[in-house]
Amino acid sequence: MTDDTIHHNRCPLCHGSHLTHYLNATDHQASGRQFEIAQCHCCGLLFTQDAPAPDTIGQYYASESYLPHNNGRGSISLVYRVVRSVMFHKKNALIYRHQQHKGTLIDVGAGSGDFMAYMRRKGWNVKGCEQSEQARREAWRRCKMRLDGDVMTIQYSSASADVITSWHAIEHIHDQQGLWKRFHAWLKPDGLLVVAVPNCDSVDAHYYGSNWAAWDVPRHLWHFSIDTMTQLAVSHGFKLIDIKPLPLDAFYISLMSDPSKVKALVNGFRFTAQVLNDYKQASSLIYLFKKTL
Ligand SMILES: [Zn+2]
Repeated sequence: MTDDTIHHNRCPLCHGSHLTHYLNATDHQASGRQFEIAQCHCCGLLFTQDAPAPDTIGQYYASESYLPHNNGRGSISLVYRVVRSVMFHKKNALIYRHQQHKGTLIDVGAGSGDFMAYMRRKGWNVKGCEQSEQARREAWRRCKMRLDGDVMTIQYSSASADVITSWHAIEHIHDQQGLWKRFHAWLKPDGLLVVAVPNCDSVDAHYYGSNWAAWDVPRHLWHFSIDTMTQLAVSHGFKLIDIKPLPLDAFYISLMSDPSKVKALVNGFRFTAQVLNDYKQASSLIYLFKKTL
């Protein structure tokens, strides 16, 4: 694979210049190549250094085994789909707790539209976007859901969304500053922003180290902790109102990270039990934000 790559000399979040090596992770899905994850010593942000530029990263999504849009029949795909169904119910309940008024919901990185279809059935007016053309076609075929394309070129109306959701999507997007400006512009003054991302400070991330599947380089460009996610949101006019764990992700990520599926399941239970005591160690976290400006 030949790439145009992006090398950061300064931290993309705080512009600090003291960047150090954190670890090397391998792309097990598409290229087999190693990528460096670097850390900013000022704000703590972890990011994929020398990641492919937007016009070349598409080739790293070409593998049919890339699970988020995959509907295969393997055991991991089955676990993924069962977990996802349970989580739709929990996500809806979480949104309702903070936003009882059912208006317009925009889902950014909608995949094949299943969450949007679920929320449409719950009475929401749904819109959404998805970079992958294959996933957009799937959304239309399965759910008759018409998705928009690239989040960075869509023109949704200002202050039109009661809720914006983005489930495991923003870590794939190069231009975080542009993305968060869009979130802020699209959301109504009292709207709710819900962002879920893997947690680089999770118990499973520390256990599996460079083999942790949620590094998912080079597709994941940013690797957020509670601290760095909060800094990013605050710098764009949001305040954090709640954080919830996605504890079942520990099973999915362990199955992806561990060569032994039995050991992965044992670890999944172990990690989930640990998260019951401390949600900050969850494999993935859901962040809920409101606007401050
Ligand atoms: Zn920084």
